[in-house]
Amino acid sequence: MKKFTFAIMVLLISAASVFGQEMPLKVFISVDMEGLSGVVNGSDVSRNGKDYDYFRVIMAEETNAAIEGAIAAGATEIWVRDSHGAKNNLLPGMLHTKAKLLKGVIDTPKNMMEGIDETFDAVLFVGYHARAGTPNAILEHTSNGNVIDFSINGVSLPEAGYNALIAGLYNVPVVFLSGDKAVCDQVTGLFGDIETAAVKEAINDAAINLHPKIAQQKIYAGVVRALNNIDKYTPFKLSPPYTMVLKVRNEKELVAGVRKSGEGEFTFTSNDLLEVIDMFNKMK
Ligand SMILES: [Zn+2]
Repeated sequence: MKKFTFAIMVLLISAASVFGQEMPLKVFISVDMEGLSGVVNGSDVSRNGKDYDYFRVIMAEETNAAIEGAIAAGATEIWVRDSHGAKNNLLPGMLHTKAKLLKGVIDTPKNMMEGIDETFDAVLFVGYHARAGTPNAILEHTSNGNVIDFSINGVSLPEAGYNALIAGLYNVPVVFLSGDKAVCDQVTGLFGDIETAAVKEAINDAAINLHPKIAQQKIYAGVVRALNNIDKYTPFKLSPPYTMVLKVRNEKELVAGVRKSGEGEFTFTSNDLLEVIDMFNKMK
């Protein structure tokens, strides 16, 4: 009888581990720089800035914290998209060996989400910042300094917002974001209760920052919690047709199909979200 019970237990345990190995968990991480712990000035995230080399190390360390959290939660494949500026900030050898790095500019609407498709199970945003015009936010902007506001179907979107919509096209939910407190509040307002790690809080254009190591612990813990509860998150979607309203400081020449709806304001409607984002990129 004892032997029989033991045999059943061995069978159950081996079945569980085989089952465990058969559960792929593919994670997409998009990493920006403005929302990293310690970053407060534009020069911190510009290649010719004096502290840029320091902050690209912080960028790799915060990314690794997210990667390690994903691995602890059972991730089987991890892609990292370098999403800042010319997309060549992350030093490949500094990343955890489990991750693959997508770097470099690709001229498509996906941009910061290049590589995402329906094979992924979850998206994580690291080092993100609030949308243009957000009070008490560090280096807040939407894509470039010319954009005053970008909305789709009346919803004003930060970069995290339209990047989440792109993931939503493939039914992939955003489950985690790190950045300053302002962007964390902004995305929980947009997507609902995702895990966030606020690594700094702005006081006007200055910020009170967590120590980088503490920020990384917070990112790790948030990612573990998010991926352990992956079933509670839903992809971020808006209903087509998608109508964008883009407000800019300096107008660009009208692209065919786009309507000038006010001073510095452009409107465009399509059932294809990527076409709308393409128009945003052309008119911004
Ligand atoms: Zn950036």
